[in-house]
Amino acid sequence: MSVVSKVANDYITFTIEPKKSIALIAHDGKKPDLIKWCQDNYDILKKHTLCGTGTTAKMVANTTGLPVLGYNSGPLGGDQQIGAKITQAEIDMIIFFSDPLTAQPHDPDVKALLRIAQVYDIPIANNKATADFMISSKYMDLPYDHNVVNFNKNVQNRAATL
Ligand code: PGA
Repeated sequence: MSVVSKVANDYITFTIEPKKSIALIAHDGKKPDLIKWCQDNYDILKKHTLCGTGTTAKMVANTTGLPVLGYNSGPLGGDQQIGAKITQAEIDMIIFFSDPLTAQPHDPDVKALLRIAQVYDIPIANNKATADFMISSKYMDLPYDHNVVNFNKNVQNRAATL
């Protein structure tokens, strides 16, 4: 869970705490890879709070025994639910094993999730190598401060000038 620690001018500094809220998502062709990755990283993942798109969450929970809160299935809005949680500072990082070789019916939702993670400066891994680098980062066990757009000021400015 992120907490507001300081209000800057155009940005707010949020702290990603040592215990992180991690979202897990895998496209169908990548689900076996994500399950294996979760099994390999069980001892780290068990220290954090996990959630994911519906099918991914259920399969990871069933195969690893880790508790994983499931949202809707991705094509039924799960990626959008996770995106909304990012805007509410309720998700700290995302492991998303996406499939670059298969067309997805919910491609606009996937793009929206990638975009909102970028806007809110949320670490997001789109492949195993990035996930490996992220999970072995020193910040997995430390607080991490990052700057996010000051949404209140942004709205005030826009309402005053548009
Ligand atoms: P799923 O959704 O976990 O419900 O399969 C993942 C996705 O395709 O975004």
